[in-house]
Order: sequence, then structure tokens, then C-alpha cells
Amino acid sequence: MGCNCNKNKNNVNTPAPAQEPTPPQPEPTFRKDNIVKEGALKEKLTMMQSFASAITSRGFNNEKVTIPMKQLRVISCFGNKEQGGVLPPCEHLKQSTTPGKFYCGGCGCGDRQGTWLLADDTQYGKLDYPRLNCPLQMPGFSNYEKSKPDESEPPITRRFYIEQLPYPEIEKIKVSTNEPPINKEQPKK
Ligand code: SF4
Repeated sequence: MGCNCNKNKNNVNTPAPAQEPTPPQPEPTFRKDNIVKEGALKEKLTMMQSFASAITSRGFNNEKVTIPMKQLRVISCFGNKEQGGVLPPCEHLKQSTTPGKFYCGGCGCGDRQGTWLLADDTQYGKLDYPRLNCPLQMPGFSNYEKSKPDESEPPITRRFYIEQLPYPEIEKIKVSTNEPPINKEQPKK
């Protein structure tokens, strides 16, 4: 009896062998980002200088950071898990006692309306300042510094991860550069 093992060799109707599913990529692990503390007096001065510089950058016309910069700041502080990514929020992000508001616990500015990172539509949030420093020098901030070579070694830094993101991933972050309150007063005739 002949062998039939090659009988259907050239039969185009033979279903293609099922493809092996691609194994899921392991999620990156992120290292803890510590803020380097300086001497208490120097730290206070740096904080005050930094905040003064942010306020000045607002100018008389309520100038605001550009949308792409704000998107980078938002991803630096809040991560991108809400947009389907794997980056957790910054470990220094703090929830305000006011529901729905967040502030940076790393810069020592405390929890008040002026320090909330994101504001309501008619307000000016901290992430809106054209010039703004981050204690971790993260992307989008004025004192941003590129990651060092060792930051790419697992566990990687959040900063390195953001630097590798393709721009469409950054664009997914919904932000507005809120307009200042509109002066509804009509000019007197
Ligand atoms: S400003 Fe910097 S340190 Fe503060 S929450 Fe945002 S990323 Fe973290």
C-alpha cells in the first residue's frame, strides 16, 4: 500500500498551520526616583527661586506652555495607564484633600489651589506655567535633563521610558491650555 503523506502537498485548500501567538511582552519595571536633597537653606532658596521664575513666566498676559510640552508634563506626573500604557504615576504625585485635584509632593509647595497641577477650565494650573521646574528633571519641564546611560538598565527610569515613547503616544494625552477667565464686563459707552 502506497504512502499518502504527501497527497495534499500542493492542495491550495489545505488550511495554513495555525500561527503561534506572539508571547506578550513583559511589562517594564520602573525604579524608584529619589529627589536629591540639598542643604535645607539652599533647598528653600532653590524652591523659592524656581517658583518665582514660574510666576514671572506667566507674565501680564497669562502666557501658557504649549500643548506638546503640557502633554509631556502630564505624562511625567500622571503616567499613561489611563491611555492604555504601562507608565505608573510619579511617586511624588499627591492627591489633594480637594477631590479630583493633585499636587507635586516633591517640590514642597503644599496643597492649595495655586499648586494644583491641573486646573478647571477657567483657571490657571501649575502645569500651565511656561517656565516650570520638576524636582526629578522630567520631560516637558524647564530643567529637564536627558536620561543617563544607566537609566536604560532594568529597572528603568520613568524618564527613560518617556524618552522612548513615539510621539503619537504622547499625543493621546488629552490636555487643554485653559483660557484665562473671560472678562464679561462690557466696556462702558
Ligand atoms: S513635578 Fe516632577 S516630581 Fe513632581 S509629580 Fe510631576 S514628575 Fe513628579
